[in-house]
Amino acid sequence: MEALREKIRQEGEVVSSSILKVDSFLNHQIDAGFMMEIGREFAHRFQDEKITKVVTIEASGIAPALTAAAVLGVPVVFAKKTKATTMDTEVYVEQVESFTRGTTYDIKVSKKFLHKEDRVLIIDDFLAYGHAALGLAKIVKKSGAQLVGVGAVIEKGFQSGGELLRGQGIRVESLAIVERMEEKEIIFK
Ligand code: 5GP
Repeated sequence: MEALREKIRQEGEVVSSSILKVDSFLNHQIDAGFMMEIGREFAHRFQDEKITKVVTIEASGIAPALTAAAVLGVPVVFAKKTKATTMDTEVYVEQVESFTRGTTYDIKVSKKFLHKEDRVLIIDDFLAYGHAALGLAKIVKKSGAQLVGVGAVIEKGFQSGGELLRGQGIRVESLAIVERMEEKEIIFK
């Protein structure tokens, strides 16, 4: 998606050769209009898949997942990282390694919101090593639902997540794939 690559070029900050910061439109402030464009692009790419639900992880996955779900006309379910006292006790749980924090955490989805009849699109902000997406994919599998694919706003092609997911036969659609990052330049695939 050329508009996204251009936005990353203009506003992205290379924190290190492996971490990209896009706080101005995705991870802190959200460019709502641009997020609609992202949602439309995901919806277009998966338009023939009869998706019934979009699944993501709080917090940064919610914005692109919500706009894609709005265009597809389906609900979005976000996995929770903390267990609120209000959360249902019947939940699917998976452990995920955090790329940005270097720790592991549990993700939880209430059994009420995923069913075996569902056709699920997983959406996240970044695809790095694939831990978050694989955790979600395992939850989808446990529920008996069908995983249709994974959509990442930004894939870092030099990390192994994309290869790992595609190697498992999962369709992965990334709107921008970063090949490498240098201090003053971001090179796309
Ligand atoms: P993975 O689970 O694929 O290793 O990492 C994906 C998750 O880590 C995403 O949900 C995202 O929040 C975070 N992440 C991974 N790499 C980056 C990055 O370069 N920048 C930002 N802002 N988040 C990242």
